[in-house]
Amino acid sequence: MSRSESLFQAAQAHIPGGVNSPVRAFKGVGGTPIFFKRGEAAYLFDEDDNKYIDYVGSWGPMILGHSHPAVMDAVRNVMDSGLGFGAPTAIEIDMADKVCEMMPGMDLVRMVNSGTEATMSAIRLARGYTRRDKIVKFEGCYHGHSDSLLVKAGSGMLTLGEPSSPGVPASLAEHTITLTYNDLDNVREAFAEAGNEIACIIVEPVAGNMNCIPPVPGFLEGLRDICDQYGTVLILDEVMTGFRVSLTGAQGYYGVIPDLTTMGKVIGGGLPVGAFGGKREIMEHISPLGPVYQAGTLSGNPLAMAAGLAMLTALQEEGFHEKLSAKTELLTQGFEAMALRHGVPFTTTQVGGMFGLFFTDQEQVTCFAEVMKCDADKFGRFFHGMLDEGIYLAPSAFEAGFMSQAHTEADINATIEAAGRVFARLAA
Ligand code: PLP
Repeated sequence: MSRSESLFQAAQAHIPGGVNSPVRAFKGVGGTPIFFKRGEAAYLFDEDDNKYIDYVGSWGPMILGHSHPAVMDAVRNVMDSGLGFGAPTAIEIDMADKVCEMMPGMDLVRMVNSGTEATMSAIRLARGYTRRDKIVKFEGCYHGHSDSLLVKAGSGMLTLGEPSSPGVPASLAEHTITLTYNDLDNVREAFAEAGNEIACIIVEPVAGNMNCIPPVPGFLEGLRDICDQYGTVLILDEVMTGFRVSLTGAQGYYGVIPDLTTMGKVIGGGLPVGAFGGKREIMEHISPLGPVYQAGTLSGNPLAMAAGLAMLTALQEEGFHEKLSAKTELLTQGFEAMALRHGVPFTTTQVGGMFGLFFTDQEQVTCFAEVMKCDADKFGRFFHGMLDEGIYLAPSAFEAGFMSQAHTEADINATIEAAGRVFARLAA
């Protein structure tokens, strides 16, 4: 038995399912999760001393690669002064200034401890600001696990939302309207019926939790217009895309400025951080300035701020995102060429440093229903084939992949060659 296998058995004694977040359990691809003990640059090392080229990057934060010296040094430098005070610190100002300088739609920003907290707080703020209860989200988008967001569409478009998890009250879910990603007509219809009751639209500007689905041209712009027309708050959930698809997030990349933005992952440099922010007029409704309550014992933690700040500073290096994007494209183009060579129906998507892999003969995949038509079984076999080759991809057909600055051209070429061998076996 491998050490990962025996650790997974041991983990199940006192951790539900042996994991602290469900996708880690490999349920989507089968098999036993790998237990890691070290990460360096583009590589992960497991408890059995196997080395992997990593395209998960801790689910997004590790855009500089693992254990980047600038980030590690920044954390070490503040650590000896204490781990947190629950009181204001100077480094929080540096972080807020930097985020507001980088993100186009950001006048004020509040730090929290996770992406879930960021979206939950932004939605409360949108509801408090507009004094409306309904919210709009899109099928296949994930915004963390707060109650209002664990909701799926009812049977008809404007029927009441249904909880997608036991424990979410139906009376809360009914305020969430779930629509089809990339379908503006669907949004227009919903607003024609209930627009004046809708507090906010929350959307992943590039959907990264149903594989990787870019917005079709005009989709985000259309959401902006509809929100302006109905006095609805537009929230771009940039937990995944923020600082990853460009220095200015998806909002800078697509030129669509939201009223509120939620962030996570990269902003914490690998430590537990989230943030939400946006227009001053709206953000001034947050406590202690305004009546909408929001707080956090550990928010703005000095270690987390130091890690995040060091990471954001490194991203400001000239040409960082251009290089990251070019590398990601090299990988996706290489995968496509190999799939074509071996006759495996397959396509990819890519925006900046994030990408998607689809086992399908559909020409394009633009929404959840089309993602569901892809061959998840084949993805599972591809995933395990790649794992055996020493390539660590996200253990689910419904997650985006992430490139880092640390991946070398040799790493990418080795990955493409490995993919060729795995495609050949899939085709056989
Ligand atoms: N929003 C998006 C777009 C995400 O991808 C995620 C997590 O993957 C979240 C929110 C929730 O963030 P967290 O897992 O830090 O709570």
